[in-house]
Amino acid sequence: MTVSANPNADVPLGDRTTFDAIIIGSGIGGLVTATQLAAKGAKVLVLERYLIPGGSSGYFDREGYRFDVGASMIFGFGKQGTTNLLTRALAAVGESIETIPDPVQVQYHLPNDLDIKVHQDYEQFLQGLFVKFPNEAKGIRQFYDECWQVFNCLNAMDLLSLEELRYLTRVFFQHPAACLGLVKYLPLNVGDIARKYIKDPDVLKFIDIECYIWSVVPAEMTPMINAGMVFSDRHYGGINYPKGGVGQIAEKLVSGLLKFGGEIHYKSRVTKIITEQGKAVGVKLANGKTFYAKKVVSNATRWDTFEQLLPAAEMPKKEQKWQERYQKSPAFLSLHLGVDAKVLPAGTECHHVLLEDWTQMEEPEGTIFVSIPTLLDPSLAPEGHQIIHAFTPSWMSDWEGLSPSEYNTKKEERAGVMLDRLERIFPGINAGLDFMEVGTPRTHRRFLGRADGSYGPIPRRKLPGLLNMPFNRTAVPGLYCVGDSTFPGQGLNAVAFSGFACAHRIAADLGI
Ligand SMILES: Cc1cc2nc3c(=O)[nH]c(=O)nc-3n(C[C@H](O)[C@H](O)[C@H](O)COP(=O)(O)OP(=O)(O)OC[C@H]3O[C@@H](n4cnc5c(N)ncnc54)[C@H](O)[C@@H]3O)c2cc1C
Repeated sequence: MTVSANPNADVPLGDRTTFDAIIIGSGIGGLVTATQLAAKGAKVLVLERYLIPGGSSGYFDREGYRFDVGASMIFGFGKQGTTNLLTRALAAVGESIETIPDPVQVQYHLPNDLDIKVHQDYEQFLQGLFVKFPNEAKGIRQFYDECWQVFNCLNAMDLLSLEELRYLTRVFFQHPAACLGLVKYLPLNVGDIARKYIKDPDVLKFIDIECYIWSVVPAEMTPMINAGMVFSDRHYGGINYPKGGVGQIAEKLVSGLLKFGGEIHYKSRVTKIITEQGKAVGVKLANGKTFYAKKVVSNATRWDTFEQLLPAAEMPKKEQKWQERYQKSPAFLSLHLGVDAKVLPAGTECHHVLLEDWTQMEEPEGTIFVSIPTLLDPSLAPEGHQIIHAFTPSWMSDWEGLSPSEYNTKKEERAGVMLDRLERIFPGINAGLDFMEVGTPRTHRRFLGRADGSYGPIPRRKLPGLLNMPFNRTAVPGLYCVGDSTFPGQGLNAVAFSGFACAHRIAADLGI
């Protein structure tokens, strides 16, 4: 990397009190890194640009409703094994959260009246599929059973930094079969495995949407390691909703961080990573303040980190290569709705996916995702009401260059189209509306601080599984990345994995 002679000429030296680690951002990836390091005795500072912690797993309050900003189908709260990373991250700093089990991960409403529920009970889920596709029963079982093989490998070992040789050696000697299993699946995608067993194009389309709803790409481009985790853990640890809302996870991690001597500063937007002789040594905030540390961790996206916080013109070759392989996924158009409880008949499930035409699955506003967290925790809405969070992929480019009135008109118009589509699964939703707030890619960029409001990186073309997804170290000495633009990708449990790995790698580098 080329470094200019004095890249920080504008940075006052000021107070050089150093931290062991500064973490830019308090998403779950950042907070797991911070709490893990604090629990090991490191002096940690988290700098968050917003008013509360959590990023995409934060919340906001309106008129008696508490809305999750994004995530609400939560993996990682299981009680056994090693993949329950949210439970473990909280426990490491003496915290826990009461969770409410969700017996059905998701109900699909797909073209040709294909209505499938993913029950926590594995056999019940498979039987539902066998009824729809009796000729493919054997192949379907073989496919999902192979996903379990991946999961069993992951669930046999402590999930820490794959960049740390001593850990890898120890794990290999403790669990040789599991390690070899993972090495085998690391370069593979779901589509390759599914097509080994399944021929019916309708079943393959179903596997596509099973991947798309969390990877936002079809099976062909979805890494098998992630699928092994998602398609099995939903039946093992299950989907569990944190009582009081998803925002509780970040709030509790912050309490744990403070208990262990860590610090968090809100309204602290980092505008620059300070480097000296090419090494990251600190950060500068929008208000001009500077902080220094032995290690700097960015929980911002890779695009924000290497194009905004560091000079884009000096982007390391490794990052340029990564950008050739991965692009930003679209953001979301989100409707945060409060509705009369009567809109939802008894027995309604918490999560739904709606798609009317297979050719539209990956298109903007094609697939609609729905979460109704109040079915699990009624305290999040005023009595007699429910929350419906409905969201669908949408590109920033479709929302730019609009005047304020054009922007508002477009928001209303697109919300209307979505609501009309939702009438199919929730008849009467329009009539039962009590509250509505519409979020666009611009909202996600503004409040979550994410480049173009993107949900995260997606492959530009078919890549060999997770092989090209970077770990936590970067080409800039002293700078680490954590969160969804590092291995293994998007989702709360995945970014928690990234946080465990990042803290482990930093602790090894600091010798603590
Ligand atoms: C609509 C939606 C629905 C989702 N549904 C689910 C789901 O059901 N289940 C699931 O597991 N996952 C879901 N996800 C994905 C999941 O929420 C994310 O993958 C995960 O929360 C990302 O965490 P992170 O740690 O990488 O970073 P983020 O959540 O992006 O947090 C980064 C933090 O860094 C801060 N920050 C950024 N730049 C700066 C700066 N310069 N200075 C200071 N602070 C900064 C931001 O304000 C933010 O708080 C969903 C996401 C969305 C948007």
